[in-house]
Amino acid sequence: MGLSKTIWTSPAEYVRTLSPETPVLFFSPSILQAMARKFIDGFPGMVTYAVKSNPEDVVIENLAAAGIRGFDVASPAEMRLIRRLVPDAALHYNNPVRARHEIRTAVELGVKSYSVDSGTELDKLIELVPAEGAEISVRFKLPVAGAAYNFGAKFGATVELATELLAKAAAAGFIPSLTFHPGTQCTDPAAWGSYIGAAAEIAGGAGVRIARLNVGGGFPNHRLNAVTPDLDAIFDLIDRTATEAFGDARPQLVCEPGRGLCGDAFTLAARIKAVRDGQHVFLNDGTYGSLTELPMIGVIDRIEVMTPQGTLRTGEKSDRIIFGPTCDSVDRLPGELPLAGDVEEGDFVIFQGMGAYSAATNTRFNGFGELSMATVLSLKL
Ligand SMILES: *Cc1c(COP(=O)(O)O)cnc(C)c1O
Repeated sequence: MGLSKTIWTSPAEYVRTLSPETPVLFFSPSILQAMARKFIDGFPGMVTYAVKSNPEDVVIENLAAAGIRGFDVASPAEMRLIRRLVPDAALHYNNPVRARHEIRTAVELGVKSYSVDSGTELDKLIELVPAEGAEISVRFKLPVAGAAYNFGAKFGATVELATELLAKAAAAGFIPSLTFHPGTQCTDPAAWGSYIGAAAEIAGGAGVRIARLNVGGGFPNHRLNAVTPDLDAIFDLIDRTATEAFGDARPQLVCEPGRGLCGDAFTLAARIKAVRDGQHVFLNDGTYGSLTELPMIGVIDRIEVMTPQGTLRTGEKSDRIIFGPTCDSVDRLPGELPLAGDVEEGDFVIFQGMGAYSAATNTRFNGFGELSMATVLSLKL
């Protein structure tokens, strides 16, 4: 293109200038850093970042620049990524099921914090991880609602088993801690309250004073116009219930947001390939691309339509069926989405709040999935 510019003023400027034919994720470093500071200032404990939600180098680097010094990692590749970009950061290996070679790699890379939710996996840690200075956090689950989907379906010990595991980890000489994950995009602060209460019961039952309580991720980002996440209310509730539940034995708190940190720092522009016979809208991105999680956690309605000139369509909104580019019939966004009535082929559908589980889960299925990223000074449309 002959353009050397790498930071754009806005999505509109980029669209007008480059007329992109493949999907673009626009990234605002200032929004990401402001969100990191909001967590660091507001959360009553240590803030770590769940790398899986968006492992782009620029994301990790900007979070580190804003003061994030701990990362929740799930694999050796994620550990090496953080060791390369933020060498002195704390790594919390909070994937409770690991191969032995993965545990050995973690030990070599200096990981000092591990979660666990079963007896077999605790035995592996006791065998392979030197206990001195190492933390084991027992991950437990409760049947609570409030999140977009339930994380307890895969991981988490029952309260009874967690009590046993905690006692055993402490007896083996590890720093004993507890952890849970209330479920992603959790808009109900009460979910954290129930978990914190149960954590105190488990610690009491095991007769163990826990060093830390990791309250997971699950912090929501802004996906629906009508639902503005209230992070301060969640922070306050966590702070209050931790004191109520534990009293003098209150542990240090840790959180590990993914979506809540990175979600609102990105906006997606997907181009309209066709408006089939004036009805169905076909995009160049879909559920095999960066919109993978929409069928699982529900659609985003922070959507606008932008013309190739970078202006917003203002026609009265009407609901449309939207398909992605592949030939698979499940490649359709859930339900129908409100698009400006004067939408045309060649326009861009702009989805706001698309930083989490978008670039990270994009596939090349059916030959699609080429995705660009562009840094912008502002995400304002
Ligand atoms: C995925 C994950 C997170 C981040 O979840 P979000 O809903 O994106 O905040 C945090 N902790 C663990 C253990 C996870 O697996």
